[in-house]
Amino acid sequence: MTIAAASLGEIIWVIGIVAWYVIRYPFERRARRARIVAGGRSRSDTVGLVSALLGLAILPGFYVATGIPAAADHSASAWSVALGTIIFCSALWIFRRSHKELGRNWSITLEIRDRHQLVSAGPYALVRHPMYTSFLLMGLGQLFLLPNWVAGVSGLIGFAVLFLLRVDKEERMMLENLGPQYRAYMERTKRIFPYLY
Ligand code: SAH
Repeated sequence: MTIAAASLGEIIWVIGIVAWYVIRYPFERRARRARIVAGGRSRSDTVGLVSALLGLAILPGFYVATGIPAAADHSASAWSVALGTIIFCSALWIFRRSHKELGRNWSITLEIRDRHQLVSAGPYALVRHPMYTSFLLMGLGQLFLLPNWVAGVSGLIGFAVLFLLRVDKEERMMLENLGPQYRAYMERTKRIFPYLY
């Protein structure tokens, strides 16, 4: 049972990561066409993006492919796989909704596009950073799906590095470019947890 649960968790995680990319790909293509007018990649943002990629994809992918580091394995249960699946699916749903809402205003890094518009509908009506909420939930789903302490926890660490290096800067950039409109939006929303933070 535990061995079956362990492999099932790993298979679901792989499907989840593939689904993540299938959701993102068309937005990445479309975003290339909208001109950038402010911002751009900084060293700290590159560090954040690489950490998120390592923690949420490369390290757990390496674990699923090789079983390394086996010393950090722990037993899997059907309950944790079920919980991990629910959390990962909600992450993907929020990720897709946020991408659709943000549309051509989306960038992988911190940038303002030509005719950038404030998005404040859909998930953005509740929180200012629903995509980061979805990364946090992906990391949490990974923790429950993969029966390994290193590969399980790495997603949450990668998310935390990206979030902490980025969120203040992102809000400052939005304030500089969209001014009072973003200030008013900040006053009525939280960052990543509705009503809490
Ligand atoms: N932090 C957001 C967006 C991540 S994508 C989230 O977690 O959902 C990063 C880009 O989105 C930034 O370059 C910024 O230009 C843009 N952005 C962030 N919040 C926005 C908003 N409310 N309206 C329009 N663009 C936004």
